[in-house]
Amino acid sequence: MIAFSHVVKTYDNGTTAVADLSFVAPTGKITVLVGPSGCGKTTTLRMVNRLIEQTSGDILLGGENNAQTDTIRMRRKIGYVIQNAGLFPHQTVLDNVCAVPFLNKSDRAQSRARARDLLELVGIDRDYASRYPWQLSGGQQQRVGVARALAADPPYMLMDEPFSAVDPIVRKQLQGEFLRIQADLAKTIVMVTHDIDEALKLGDQIIVLKEGGILAQIGSPAEILANPADQFVADFLGESRGYHALNFEGIADLQPQRTPVFRLGDEVGIAAGEWAVAADAAGRPLGWVRASGSSEPLAEHAVTFSQAVSASAGNRRELLDASLASPSGLAIVVDATGAYAGTLAAHAVAGRAS
Ligand code: ADP
Ligand code: MG
Repeated sequence: MIAFSHVVKTYDNGTTAVADLSFVAPTGKITVLVGPSGCGKTTTLRMVNRLIEQTSGDILLGGENNAQTDTIRMRRKIGYVIQNAGLFPHQTVLDNVCAVPFLNKSDRAQSRARARDLLELVGIDRDYASRYPWQLSGGQQQRVGVARALAADPPYMLMDEPFSAVDPIVRKQLQGEFLRIQADLAKTIVMVTHDIDEALKLGDQIIVLKEGGILAQIGSPAEILANPADQFVADFLGESRGYHALNFEGIADLQPQRTPVFRLGDEVGIAAGEWAVAADAAGRPLGWVRASGSSEPLAEHAVTFSQAVSASAGNRRELLDASLASPSGLAIVVDATGAYAGTLAAHAVAGRAS
């Protein structure tokens, strides 16, 4: 874990960037520091690996006070990812990933083999290993930056706006891949973002900072959404707070409607104009079909494909999205085995178990 105890940073010009900050970033979890520009996020992060020296207070890594630890040894335990990846322009992708292992005088062949595995893990094609950073897209460079930070297999990762410089679609992909990798690796991560959506999506724990590096709130995404500490946090969460909170509420308590279901090849035996659920031969729902009144067997081309929501694993936000995107206005619900369980309307998300 990483622990901050009454940490203050006042720059030489008198700016207090961080004021009396105490928190614990738990082992194997993602802690996200979020807040508007200038609230001290980068300063906080860079004090962990001593790129910036705190004015007062203590920072402990795994119980060791990092002011009393050899800085080089301490930094070996920390992977550092920055915005725009910060790759070395005159080194190949592979050598960029190997930078820290080479500095540590690790075996070169082993380091290269591991670097290739890491590039694969972050979704970079093997052919790119011998290219130079400028030959890669922004999203690819950012992936290489993550691979480089992981190369020495550090227990800690510091990430400063790692996904901010890429377009929204690539950003969503990178976020998803990052969560998938973290599920395997379970690093102790402190990440900085100014984007509350990103914080809510990635954080196990969120620390909201306000100007002057003042701690506004610390808690899980669900806790912060349910109970903003003050007006600043409520404003920062914005108007979509209720919508985000739906991510953390399951749907197992809702009773699906029994909308008729027909399998491919069956006759859609309901009144013309009515919507029914279309399913494959095994009974797994595919989407929606609108009855035409003819007795033609149900064909795949007549199906409007729709994502189903899991009654056991799904949440109210998925249900709302699925129902709003559905041609019938209803979300298809499946059980844990993927079998059809019924449908739910958007307004069902407002329902509560009694
Ligand atoms: P954030 O990452 O949240 O945008 P920073 O940690 O970069 O915020 O900066 C926090 C505050 O400290 C800002 O007011 C910024 O202008 C100031 N600051 C950052 N670096 C320095 C510095 N080297 N000297 C003086 N002031 C600085
Ligand atoms: Mg910053």
